[in-house]
Amino acid sequence: MNISDKIQTIKKELPNNVTLVAVSKTKSEEEILQAYNSGHKIFGENKVQELVEKYENLPKDIEWHMIGHLQRNKVKYIAPFVSLIHGTDSEKLLKEINKRAKKNSRIINCLLQVHIAEESTKFGFSLSEINDIMQRSSEFENVNIIGLMGMASFTDTISQIEKEFCSLQQIYKNHTSFTTLSMGMSGDYKSAIQYGSNMIRLGSVIFGNRNY
Ligand SMILES: *Cc1c(COP(=O)(O)O)cnc(C)c1O
Repeated sequence: MNISDKIQTIKKELPNNVTLVAVSKTKSEEEILQAYNSGHKIFGENKVQELVEKYENLPKDIEWHMIGHLQRNKVKYIAPFVSLIHGTDSEKLLKEINKRAKKNSRIINCLLQVHIAEESTKFGFSLSEINDIMQRSSEFENVNIIGLMGMASFTDTISQIEKEFCSLQQIYKNHTSFTTLSMGMSGDYKSAIQYGSNMIRLGSVIFGNRNY
């Protein structure tokens, strides 16, 4: 199957409330256009420079999501156009996004990344930090915190992944202002949806394996 057939087949099988972010990192602009021309407009990247280049070269009605770890000194490059930042993983980063959003006269949508995986390498807030930030969310006037993002452990053990999704779902449900729960990648998106995910980030099932 080609890219447009793959993306359309996946979208047909998704529940209506689930938004698909097509993760196009390392993929060419031609490959992105194949997905775009089949009617898909939401793409995710994990590197600032690649995101900016693709934004500049591709159609302006694409909604670009930053899904990777974001360094504070690079927020300024994406602040003018990014439509959702998934990986907000520290208060310092949140403050910088707020500052750059203000300079651009924008309100930037953000998800708080939650540390759900057992691996210590994954970034994110703890449960108590999430609660604390949400109590003070009005301090960040130019940021709209619309929900949570999580990445499960890199493992084949389904029960471990499901445990992590379940704990993220619980945190999500505790905050009635949240609308977006971003969890699930190519290998685990079906269980993520069972645990309440309404935004999935799929790369390899759409575009094929990445060659780094
Ligand atoms: C690369 C990436 C994805 C997509 O991974 P696939 O397994 O190819 O679907 C999703 N989320 C994040 C944060 C990523 O970096």
